[in-house]
Amino acid sequence: MAATVIDGKAVAASVRERVSRQVKESMEQLGRPPGLATVLVGEDPASAIYVRRKREACDEVGIRSYHHEPGASISQEELLDLVGELNESDEVDGILVQLPLPEQIDAEAIVAALDPAKDVDGLTATSAGRLARGEPGLVPCTPSGVMELLASAGVEPEGAEAVIVGRSNLVGRPLISLLLGANATVTVCHSRTRDLPEVCRRAEILIAAAGRPALVTAEMVREGATVIDVGTNRTDDGLVGDVEFDSVKEVAGAITPVPGGVGPMTIAMLLANTVQAAVWRGVLESRLAST
Ligand code: NAP
Repeated sequence: MAATVIDGKAVAASVRERVSRQVKESMEQLGRPPGLATVLVGEDPASAIYVRRKREACDEVGIRSYHHEPGASISQEELLDLVGELNESDEVDGILVQLPLPEQIDAEAIVAALDPAKDVDGLTATSAGRLARGEPGLVPCTPSGVMELLASAGVEPEGAEAVIVGRSNLVGRPLISLLLGANATVTVCHSRTRDLPEVCRRAEILIAAAGRPALVTAEMVREGATVIDVGTNRTDDGLVGDVEFDSVKEVAGAITPVPGGVGPMTIAMLLANTVQAAVWRGVLESRLAST
């Protein structure tokens, strides 16, 4: 029987609705809307589109966005100053510096300068450390979107064999901690994994995040497994994932398509993180005020 196709657009829409309600509730507590600062440096057309979509999504749910577009020739020092100002700003709860940054900028130093309380992309070492230790914190958007998709499909990670293909700081590594936190038994594969098909076949939950078109074929998938395809590859045939969708859907129990699977979740989770950051800051401020 063909797999259930998990509709990422629908799940993302329900997350946005939830965030929209949370924005209204948090307004009562904060006395202002949650705020997201977006920083776009340089002229990368794809980055410009991503940032525009993120700002439009903010508008839809009632988050106020503060956009900064310094010129492509901005220096490292100037960009660090801007991050410092946003760290200090009372209206800004989350800061998104769109990557990649131009050559003259050390992106790692910019990420490291972000106040972890405003790190809505979950990229700082503090956010990564909290996640690895199982402590509350801001979680990278795409991996937390994967967890939402599993929940929406009624997939219970507890006790399940989960296999992640890919170990990047952006996707694979945060997923290790999220799935472990949900009590799955987690295996991680990468480019040096000796027998990828054999390891993948163990998975009840298989997550492909390698950036390699058609890496995961039907022979690598256990009957009835849930397959989440994070891959986003631009090819001559258009946008494709890492999973050979047509053949794998005949074996899997549930599967995400590309496009329309994980992709729409990333912006939805950014909105959720911004409200989360606003609420946490609000709680902290009220605690400080009462001391
Ligand atoms: P990345 O930094 O390039 O990492 C890719 C990972 O896959 C690495 O750990 C690499 O192993 C592993 N890998 C590569 N080829 C492999 C192979 N043949 N067999 C097994 N493992 C292999 O990529 P990323 O940033 O994590 O992104 C992964 C994919 O997700 C990309 O297609 C990206 O566009 C997509 N993505 C989508 C979204 C979204 O919103 N939908 C968000 C983020 C990323 P090594 O560590 O050994 O090199």
